[in-house]
Amino acid sequence: MFEVIKTEGKARRGVFQCAHGVVQTPVFMNVGTQAAIKGAVSSHDLEAIGCQVELSNTYHLHLRPGNDVVRAMGGLHAFMDWKGPILTDSGGFQVFSLSGLRKIREEGVTFASHIDGRRIFMGPEESMQIQSDLGSDIAMAFDECVENPAAYDYAKASCERTLRWLERCKKEHDRLNALPDTVNPKQMLFGINQGATYPDLRVWHMKETAKIDCDGYAIGGLAVGEPTQVMYDIIDVVEPHMPKDKPRYLMGVGTPSNIIEAVARGVDFFDCVMPARNARHGKLYTWEGTINIKNEKYKTDASPIDPTCDCPACRSFSRAYLRHLFAAGEMLAMRLAVLHNLHFYNELMARIRKSLDEGTFDQFRAEYSGKLDRRL
Ligand SMILES: [Zn+2]
Repeated sequence: MFEVIKTEGKARRGVFQCAHGVVQTPVFMNVGTQAAIKGAVSSHDLEAIGCQVELSNTYHLHLRPGNDVVRAMGGLHAFMDWKGPILTDSGGFQVFSLSGLRKIREEGVTFASHIDGRRIFMGPEESMQIQSDLGSDIAMAFDECVENPAAYDYAKASCERTLRWLERCKKEHDRLNALPDTVNPKQMLFGINQGATYPDLRVWHMKETAKIDCDGYAIGGLAVGEPTQVMYDIIDVVEPHMPKDKPRYLMGVGTPSNIIEAVARGVDFFDCVMPARNARHGKLYTWEGTINIKNEKYKTDASPIDPTCDCPACRSFSRAYLRHLFAAGEMLAMRLAVLHNLHFYNELMARIRKSLDEGTFDQFRAEYSGKLDRRL
């Protein structure tokens, strides 16, 4: 399922096989929260900008249109016409961050829908059922993501419960995959490491999580308010306890520099809403750093966003035109900007992989890790 074909330090160049295709790692998954990429970007566009894995959101699709609807339409792949691999998150993060009035018990979480306030219950079994209906290639275990900073005792009780929830997820996931009418019987399950910013909890939880046979392991609960160096330190302490022969996924991270630094620490999978969100606000990535396309200085700039980029925006349009579209409030502004930023992230991963193939990742890291996050 997963093979590490080359390493440089702790960085890994790998190949991952799942039901809907082969994924070259390290990989950045493109986020289509509600089975669409915000900014009027479709699954067909994702194909054109080098996306390997699409990520959809269990919480959102459960609320709207409902996983029963997606299942009736043949699963997410058929519903959104995306033929490649799909990862669905567990819903846990949104249950804890978006919904109001939640109550956590051993069985699961009761929460109010952020759309209409309706009371909903979600536990490990419900999350597995929803993701099974969606038919994704990779399902994520249902976990609790605590805010940072979290009190030690709470973080400890929470990650102990997340471990018990993983055991229930695994059991239910195996049961659902074996049913005769399952949308994707080859669906995989990734477990998630938690433990807030406490190294001893993180290590204990990772060791216990690794004892449960999952198809991959994720580090969750980071990039939720802690300083960047704390995040790197946590990856450093957790990584030695993650199985070497399974993919590692750092959830919800991050800037280009964060990604390069995490690859250097042995991470294979990434996702983040940041590139698309930044694009919608006019913050665009280039190989020299980030620019704000709304800036006055681009008013008559005939050059593309990045002269080396071959995305649909850069191939045809100038900075001046894009700036005008933003000023005029045209939807095309967001679409072109999102296409560029996602293409940039996919290209970033392609260059990381190439540097690993050629044994030059260290030079790549030295040249770009600082540069790509700077504001021009
Ligand atoms: Zn571009």
